This record gives sequence, structure tokens and C-alpha cells, in this order.
Amino acid sequence: MKKVFIYFFIFLLIFFLLPAFLTKRNWEVSAKVPENIDEEKVNEKEVYDYKNYGTIKLLHEATNEVEEVDLDTYLCNVVSAEMPVDFELEALKAQAIVARTYTIYKIQNKKHENADVCDNSSCCQAWISKEDRLARWDEDKRQSNWEKIEKCVNETKEKIITYEGKPINAFFHSNSGGTTELPVNVWGGGSQYPYLQIVETAGEDGYTQYQSEVVLSQDELIEKLKTKYQDITIDFNNNEDLKILEYTDSGRVKTVKFGNHEISGTEVRTLFELKSTNFEIIKEDKNIKFTVKGYGHGVGMSQTGADSLAKQGKNYEEIIKHFYVGVEISEVNSI
Ligand SMILES: [Zn+2]
Repeated sequence: MKKVFIYFFIFLLIFFLLPAFLTKRNWEVSAKVPENIDEEKVNEKEVYDYKNYGTIKLLHEATNEVEEVDLDTYLCNVVSAEMPVDFELEALKAQAIVARTYTIYKIQNKKHENADVCDNSSCCQAWISKEDRLARWDEDKRQSNWEKIEKCVNETKEKIITYEGKPINAFFHSNSGGTTELPVNVWGGGSQYPYLQIVETAGEDGYTQYQSEVVLSQDELIEKLKTKYQDITIDFNNNEDLKILEYTDSGRVKTVKFGNHEISGTEVRTLFELKSTNFEIIKEDKNIKFTVKGYGHGVGMSQTGADSLAKQGKNYEEIIKHFYVGVEISEVNSI
């Protein structure tokens, strides 16, 4: 009888008490799991993890001060300095990704000793403080304009452009004149950037940056040339003495003959302050006229081209992949 009672007790233990105990444990565990997930989600939202790139060191050239700034805040300042705020949203998003990529590339390929980037557009990227930016906009548009810039940076958060898993050297310029240029024709060297090719973009002629001209008298032309070539002589009556000798594959000027000198298109651009190397030379009485197409070096993304593509219905990814051949949009933490 006593044995029967023991067996009954063991039976009770196995079939009722133990499962009840285990079930309670399971319930406790399962009750805790979602709690943990919620906590993680909250943390992810509040503290975004850019890993190595949460803040960057920005050199202000005018004061020579280095400021440590939040990356996305810095990008708002860059985008609002680099691209007109009335451009299409998708063009501004493309600019935000290009600016982020350019910044990460510069962090990895340092130009400055104590800083990651500087605020000089001819060295790194243009930058303007929020205060100065707002002051230059009409008062009634300040808030909505700044919100538009923030939206573009936030909605492309952590996105960068990569080629074979590495951030690209995301060159950009104002207006390509319809066709972009190879870096070798601007800066020389080898072709170490396979993603920077010649691409054509429709609609760039609709922007004020597309066409410009510089008119110089013969004397002014000689004077400017003499700053570099003291022995220059040109016979303006001889058509062979002033003419374009060679064009690059993109249709920009490669070499110009000025009398006894042959000068590269990029040097001509600098000497006469032309907006691009995509120019023609026209003789008008005693004047020399340079008619210029496009604005900037012409390599990589054209900003007006990006806006034109956005107007044609392209999104930021399509715009980026149009200007940078064979690239991917990646998360910065994945590199
Ligand atoms: Zn710099």
C-alpha cells in the first residue's frame, strides 16, 4: 500500500508538477524576450551607431580651428552649401550620399594632418554654418528649406557609394555640359577610378550654369598669357596661330595653340577663368571670345544633371548609378 502511494506520488510529479514548473520557467523566459527586443529597438533609434564615423574632425580654414562635429549635422551643412535647396528631393538625396561617401573616402585617404576634411570647396567640400545658411534664405522659407535638407540626409542615413566594397572617390561638379569627363584628362595620372567614365545626361542645357562666355581684348589675352609664358607672341592675323589643336573623348579642349606655345585645356581654363574646358574660341574684331559649356571639372556627378534626371522621374539610386558606373549603394557600417 505504501509502495502504491510512492508510485502515485512519482506519477504526480512527472505528469503534473514538473510540466507545470517547466511551463512557468518557459513563460518567464518568453515574457522576458520581447522586453529585451523592445529595449534594443529603442536604443537603435535613439543612439544611431555609425561605428567609426559618428563624428568627424572638420578644419575651418579661415580660423585654422579643428571642430569635432556629428557626421550627419556636417552633411546638412555641406549639402546646403553645395546644392541649391530648390533642386529636386532625389537630387538632394543623391548629393547627401555623394557628400557622405566623399567624407568617408577622405577619412580613409587623409589630406590634412589633424583633420578629416576642411571647409574649402576647392580642397575638400563646401561647408556653411546653419546660421549663415538660414540668413541667406528668405525668412519665410528658412524653416522649410532646412527641414528639406535634413530630410535628405536623414532618409539616406548611413548610405554610401561603394565600388568592389570600398567607398568611391565621389567627385562631383556643377554642370557637365551634357557629357562628363575622365579624371585623367583633368588631373593626369592613370585610370585608377573605373567607375568614373564618360556619361551623357539630357536636360543640362536648361540651367544657367550650362552656358557662359569670357571676352578678352588681344592685349588682355597676351597679358594673361605672359603671367606664365613671358616669351609669348601671337600673330592674330594668322588663323594657325590661335586655334584648338586637340579635343578629349568627351569633347573638351585638350590642347590650344597660342602662337609659339601649346597650352593644355585645363591651364587655359585657369588662366582665363573659364567655367570649364568645354569651350570654343571665336575671333571678333580685336577681341577673343571663349564660349563655354558646363561648369566645373566635369568628373563624376553633375549636380544640374542630377536635378534634371530627378525631374525625369529618376530616384537617388538611379541618379548615382548613372554618374558612377558599376557602383553599389552600401551601408557605411558594412565596409
Ligand atoms: Zn581640404
